[in-house]
Amino acid sequence: MTKSNEPTVSLELGNGKTVNLHHGMFINNEFVPSKAGKKLEVYNPAKGKVIGEIYQGDADDVDAAVKAARTAYEANNRAWGFGFAGQRAKLLNKLADLVEANLDELAALEVTDTGKLFSDAKTKDIPGVITTLRYYAGWADKIMGHTYNSVPGAHAYTKLEPVGVCGQIIPWNFPASMLSWKIGPAFACGNTVVLKSAESTPLSALRIAELVREAGFPPGVFNLITGLGHTAGQAIADHMDVDKVAFTGSGAVGRKILKAAADSNLKRVTLELGGKSPNIIFDDANVKEAAEWALFGIEMNVGQVCVAGSRILVQEGIADEFTREFVNLMKGIKVGDPFDPSTTQGPLQSEGHFGKVKDWIKRAVEEGAELATGGDEIKDLGDGYYLRPTVFTNVKPGNSVLANEVFGPVVSIQTFKDEEEAIKIANDTTYGLASAVFSHNNERLMRMNTAIRAGTVWNNLYNYTSPTVPFGGFKQSGIGRENGEAVLLNYLETKAIIANTGVIRSPMAVAAGR
Ligand code: NAP
Ligand code: MG
Repeated sequence: MTKSNEPTVSLELGNGKTVNLHHGMFINNEFVPSKAGKKLEVYNPAKGKVIGEIYQGDADDVDAAVKAARTAYEANNRAWGFGFAGQRAKLLNKLADLVEANLDELAALEVTDTGKLFSDAKTKDIPGVITTLRYYAGWADKIMGHTYNSVPGAHAYTKLEPVGVCGQIIPWNFPASMLSWKIGPAFACGNTVVLKSAESTPLSALRIAELVREAGFPPGVFNLITGLGHTAGQAIADHMDVDKVAFTGSGAVGRKILKAAADSNLKRVTLELGGKSPNIIFDDANVKEAAEWALFGIEMNVGQVCVAGSRILVQEGIADEFTREFVNLMKGIKVGDPFDPSTTQGPLQSEGHFGKVKDWIKRAVEEGAELATGGDEIKDLGDGYYLRPTVFTNVKPGNSVLANEVFGPVVSIQTFKDEEEAIKIANDTTYGLASAVFSHNNERLMRMNTAIRAGTVWNNLYNYTSPTVPFGGFKQSGIGRENGEAVLLNYLETKAIIANTGVIRSPMAVAAGR
């Protein structure tokens, strides 16, 4: 479906194909130029080059999007909101079908924007979007309150109602997946949305906006702002008429959003933040399998994953064997063009981020960590942002690489004596997003699963998530949960209704003996 007067941009994708994409702010089911007319460059990190320009939204555009979302929320309250759950399910399913029908193109857009492997985008990221949308379609007509037998003389019950207008702010590492994790539950519960994509990865969101319209969502239900975080993102967090913000990104920005909520209308805030996740390998594990999972734990998406297994803790007795095995696997990674099927690691996502990762590596070395492999940029692959997979050994407590989320193919190996020490090192972090334990002793696994302070504990695997299972952080890794049933209450207000069945008398009536 195209509308001839809307802005479009022609983009050369990383696979050599050209696509025509609508761009602009997607408000009331129409693509419109940003009010100030400013533009944002779209670039391909695999080539290190700009491939086009799209509109950049600002506070004024956010305001227009919020008005549209508010009007849609009010006007459609019965049709779109809690009244007609079946319609919401149908629309979410229809959107999932359209994403499926356009899977290859969406995957190619995502790869061009992020540098992630095409094979991953095609078999994991975009299929994950489809599964997520269908999962939440299933929830739309299963949202219900309780009745309470505990209130004498009254009929007391709760209704779960949509929160209203939800601001949603997403990062650049899994743009389409993060969008689906956000809009799925919001729409299942009957909310309307203003979503801001990350400034460097707007493409899949623009394409999905086209599909939202094609699916038949009422105007104003989904609104998209492509723009910068400190302007457009901040405007969502500051806005007096946004009822809730769901944010995925860094802790530094998460704090700004909490402050903005406190200083504006006390909007509800949920945060999915970073991690520095321990991957713990005991000497009763299968060393080869553990090394392969550890590789996947740090190499998936070039390590630009909030749950990346960036701290490997290995028991002393198998440390040498494990390290040899693991370093060999890291050396065998084939870095290159993400569209090439033989590539196993693509580029980092942006020049700025590439620079930051290289700085963390330099600092770790200066602080005494030993480089077992990698640490350097690969220069013979053109102008993309390619880094050699990097392993640090002999990392002493206090080294900054243990405390900070590097967000790249950079991992440290530490050793531990026993369970007690493994738990101490694992929990010695301000984060608490994910973790893994490799062992074939079930009782040990159960003890570890309780002792680790993190939102996810994997046993004998890594980086395995499902939209049906709650996901989120302990400690400074976030507030609230996404996925599963757990996310729904973040998108609902509980309304208690207490009705007189005719037998409760007012205090005055009681005093007067009536
Ligand atoms: P980020 O810098 O915090 O940005 C995330 C989003 O917030 C982007 O859309 C960004 O816009 C926007 N933003 C920036 N400043 C803002 C402000 N003042 N007000 C409102 N919004 C603002 O994070 P990132 O570098 O894109 O992503 C990496 C981080 O995300 C890592 O820490 C990672 O662990 C975390 N992450 C967490 C999860 C999870 O589920 N827990 C999943 C994925 C990633 P711009 O694009 O313009 O900067
Ligand atoms: Mg890009």
